[in-house]
Order: sequence, then structure tokens, then C-alpha cells
Amino acid sequence: MNLIKDKIYLGFVASILFIYLTFFLLHIDTRSISEGSFFIFTNIYLLFFNAIIAASWFAFGWIGGAIFLAFSIIIALSLSLATGNNIYYIHAGLFSITALLSFNSLRGFVAFQTEYQLKTERIGEEKNTLFKRMERDRAQAQAFELKFKRYELLKNVAEYLSDIFSQEKIVKFLAQKSFAIIGKSTRSLIYLINPYNQELILTYSKQPQDFPRIKTKKGDIFDKWVLKQNQPLIVLNTSRDFRFPQDDILLDEVRIKSVIAVPMVSHNKMIGLLRLDNQEPDIYNPDDLRLLDIVGDLGAVALHNNMLYQRTTELAIRDGLTQLFVYRYFMERLTTEFRRAQKSVHPFSILMIDIDHFKEYNDKYGHIAGDILLKHLATMLTSIVSKGDIVARYGGEEFAIALFDEKKEDAKRLAENIRDAVDENIFYLRREETHATISIGVSTYPDDAKTARDLLKVADQNLYRAKKEGRNRVCTS
Ligand code: GH3
Ligand code: MG
Ligand code: MG
Repeated sequence: MNLIKDKIYLGFVASILFIYLTFFLLHIDTRSISEGSFFIFTNIYLLFFNAIIAASWFAFGWIGGAIFLAFSIIIALSLSLATGNNIYYIHAGLFSITALLSFNSLRGFVAFQTEYQLKTERIGEEKNTLFKRMERDRAQAQAFELKFKRYELLKNVAEYLSDIFSQEKIVKFLAQKSFAIIGKSTRSLIYLINPYNQELILTYSKQPQDFPRIKTKKGDIFDKWVLKQNQPLIVLNTSRDFRFPQDDILLDEVRIKSVIAVPMVSHNKMIGLLRLDNQEPDIYNPDDLRLLDIVGDLGAVALHNNMLYQRTTELAIRDGLTQLFVYRYFMERLTTEFRRAQKSVHPFSILMIDIDHFKEYNDKYGHIAGDILLKHLATMLTSIVSKGDIVARYGGEEFAIALFDEKKEDAKRLAENIRDAVDENIFYLRREETHATISIGVSTYPDDAKTARDLLKVADQNLYRAKKEGRNRVCTS
């Protein structure tokens, strides 16, 4: 119900009716009306005036009502004076009483109506607020659910990462999990930082098969920004980000519109970069970036731990001075590799190397010079043999080399090459030229022995023979 509209309408009707009725009464000759009709006439006109007064009060307020009442009384009194009929005096009085009664009842009605309208409006408002709150709560519940799911996944990431001891696996896992947790990405990329030149190296990428291959393995403009700033990056639209001038964005980067990337920092040092991107703009929000940052932190810790683990393992199997494998590791590997050689019936050779008159070298140049010579020799040996072969420091100044897939003749030729290289080499010691020679004993499976232990024994015997025969030579069986 529209109260204002009703008031205007009623006020208008009351005013028109009042004017017409006044006009009619002033022009009618009441004396021509019969007795019976006069009674009906007076009552109708009485009713009309009362209705008009009530309506005008309702429409214009109590002042309006009073004005209409006053006019109605004047008209009634004028009619009495004009007709000499006393009935109009009574009417004038009745107007006042009925008008007052109408006022009261109408006031009650209006008050009720106003209250009703207010209540309806209030209820409507409350309903709207409740609806809004409900929608907000629902959205919040959904957001919580998503957050919960994401944190559950994060927990899994943290648990799983603590069990991986391979950099390759960690990197692959990080790329795949960040892709799954954040979702809505076209690609996920992981870069590690080359500690020697501080450049990025693309280490793992997950992307659709039909997506063009990544041309630059050293990161694009966005990755380099993260590397330089050491800060998380969110780009909503690569075409409209003032930090990245369009001319600087390479052709193959134009396909990407949304980017989030975080540095992986361990002990205040950036060790890598984790990045997600999408071909559509406006994909990621700060929540996604925060989450990726957590994954990045977990990844950094895992990578750092892995590095420490690898270093510890290396320390355990490498000799501190020469960086060659230690005796224990050599023996372990020898056993397994020998077994493999036996199964596949591949030849397998051992070179046992000893420095000639090393004691004299030590006595002449000092123990530290001896150490330097050991280091130089280790480097020479490693550079001469194949990558898969095992070079170990067998004892103080003895080295052992296990050669895979080398027949006796090949092993002997290699041993000669090594001996020759050492013999011809000049070892500089504080600008002083020094010289050293080595003796080598060679043994080959299956020609010389059937077990690893016997193979070592034969190599040792041949070395002994080389020493006996005058040193700086290679002996085979
Ligand atoms: P040969 O030709 O018979 O092998 O004579 P050699 O002097 O090399 O043999 P010997 O076994 O008598 O001496 C080995 C020397 O190697 C003794 C030791 O002082 C030295 N030596 C062993 N380990 C190290 C090391 O780690 N550093 C240095 N500087 N010397 C070492
Ligand atoms: Mg010796
Ligand atoms: Mg020696």
C-alpha cells in the first residue's frame, strides 16, 4: 500500500467533492423538495460532508481537516439562515461530533496503517540483510573449505618432502604439487640458481603437450624480476603491467597473461624459483601467491636439506685431500660391480698404482709438497680414465682404479698412458720444477682371477713386481 499516493488521491477527491457539493447546495431550492425526499437529501449531504472532512483530514492533516470542518459548518449555518430550517443547526453540530469521531478512528487507522507499513518495510529489510548474510556465510564457508583442502594438501607436501632425498624428485614433486594445490594454471616451472654465476636454470617444467617449448632456459623477464628483487611476484595481466614494458616481453612470453612466482630462499640465500602461469588474464589472487610462497618455503627447506645430505654422503665416501673415493667405498663398489661383471661376463680390470720413492719426495720438498703431489696425481688420474670408472685412494700414496669393460690389453694400454703422462709431467712447487714417477700393477677378470679379492691380490703382486724390476713401469700377469 502506497500511503502518499493514497493521500494525494483522497485529498483531490475530497476537494472536488466539497466544491461540487457546496456549489450544488448554494443553487438548490430546498423548498421544492418534498418532506420525505428532504430527509434523505439532508442525510446524504450530511454523510458526504462527514466523509469529505474525514478524507481531507487524512489527506492534509488536522489543519486541513479543521478548515474543511469550518467550511462545512459555515455552509450548514448559511443553509439554515437561507431556508429558515433548523435542521441545519443540528447538522452543524453533528458535523463537529462525527468529524471528531472520524478523526479519532481515522487516526487509529492511519497509525495502524503506518505501523503496518513500517513493519513490512522493516521485515523486508531484515529479510534482505539475512539473505545477504546467508550469501556471505555461504561464500565464506566455501572459501574455508577451499582453504582447508589447500592446507591439507600442504600438509601432505611437507610430509612427503621430508622423505625425499633426491633433488630431481623434490623439484618434480614441487612443480606438480603447486600446480595441483593452486589449480587454474597452464604451466608450472621450477628454476634452480647456478651457484657459480647466479643465473637461473630451468630444472623442471609441467605444461600442456601442445604448448610451445620454452626457448630460454635462463628465465624470462618475470623470472628475472623475482631473481633481482628476491620477492614474490603477481602479474594480473602481462599486457598491462607497468613494471614490464611491452617491448621487453619476448614473443613467446606474450601468450602468458597471468603469472605468480616466488623465490625459494634458504638461509637468506635464494636457491630457486617456483612459478605458475596462465594464458588468461586475472587468474591469480594474493591468497594464491601466499600459498605458493608457503610451497616455495617448504621446497627451499627440502632442497637445502637434500644438499646437506648429499654433501654428508659425499664426505663419507670421498677422501678429504684428493677428493677420490675412500678405500671402504672402493671395496663396496668393487664387490657389487664385480658381481655384475660376472653375471654379464664382461671383462673387468684393476690398476694398482704406487708413487715411486715418495718418501724421498717428502723428505726433499716437505710433507705439504707431498700432499700437493697427491692432489695433482688424483686430478690426472680422474681426467684420464672414463667417467664411469672408479678411482680411489687405496692407501697413503697408493691409488686403485677399477675399469669396467676393459680387456687386459686395453687396461695395460691405459696403464701405460697414465704412467707415461705422470713421467712426462712437471709438477710445479712454488715455481720449482719437480718430477715423480709411478709403478702400476694390472689384473683382469676373467683372465687373472675369478674373485674380486684375488683380482686385487694379483694387481698387488704385479705392482710389487714393477717396483722390483726398477719402478716407473707397468706389470701385468
Ligand atoms: P716406493 O717406491 O718403494 O714406493 O718408495 P716409497 O718411498 O714411496 O715407499 P714407502 O712406503 O717407504 O713410503 C711411502 C711414504 O708415503 C711414506 C709416507 O710418509 C708417505 N705418505 C703416505 N701418506 C702420505 C700423505 O698423505 N701425505 C704425504 N705427504 N705423504 C704421505
Ligand atoms: Mg706404498
Ligand atoms: Mg711408494
